[in-house]
Amino acid sequence: MNRKYRKTIIAGNWKMNKTPTETKEFMTALKGMMPRGRWCDVALCVPAVCIPAAVRAMRETRVGIGAENCNANPSGAYTGEIATNMLVDAGCKYVIIGHSERRAMGETDADVNAKVIAALDAGLIPIMCCGETLEQRETGITSEWIAMQIKAGLQNVPEEKIRKVVIAYEPIWAIGTGRTATPEQAQEVCESIRTVVRKLYSSKVARAVSILYGGSMNEKNAYELLAQPDIDGGLIGGASLVPEKFVKIIESANQPAE
Ligand code: PEP
Repeated sequence: MNRKYRKTIIAGNWKMNKTPTETKEFMTALKGMMPRGRWCDVALCVPAVCIPAAVRAMRETRVGIGAENCNANPSGAYTGEIATNMLVDAGCKYVIIGHSERRAMGETDADVNAKVIAALDAGLIPIMCCGETLEQRETGITSEWIAMQIKAGLQNVPEEKIRKVVIAYEPIWAIGTGRTATPEQAQEVCESIRTVVRKLYSSKVARAVSILYGGSMNEKNAYELLAQPDIDGGLIGGASLVPEKFVKIIESANQPAE
């Protein structure tokens, strides 16, 4: 983390878990446990039907609500899809884009790029995900693969908007597997992502962009991961479903500022 230059963000990704009723229960519990200090931003990205309950429950708190996906088109014949202006109107602040689980369902880098642009145009903060498979890591092509995903995802994103983008590095082999990247592995890739952003934009921009790590981050390993200089927060799946665990991760982000 480097709180001098960029935001620390602890974001939850609920995936396809919890009903609106359970959302209300979770948010009520979380509200009662939220640490008082403001050392990081907190986001919870929830299933679309849970957004109203989450927004209602967390009004006037520091927890921003987000969606787990969006459609890049402004409106039209896209049955089952949700446009960015709908998310804004529903009270969302964030949207996860390009999660590996969605990429596995056919989402391409071009789709990710179109969604990032649509999200920024609507005023949402896109949390753009990237990550390599175990096979890619073992073949030694992790940094090239990630660089390619970042370049494709940020294509035509102007300098004045890139500061709003949050990048999440999520090695696919670490998501939901209990197998976390070591702090060194995660730092190495997050640093390489910052280098890509520096080359695409500038040192100033690269220094200001928040890069999160995601992949079996939990209340036990969060402190060490967040202590790495280029890891500015976490995107958390499983551990974000339990208020006690999520709060402990938020507390882990309370580390001495550089
Ligand atoms: C995720 O879904 O983005 C994620 C990182 O999940 P988990 O924390 O459960 O590995």
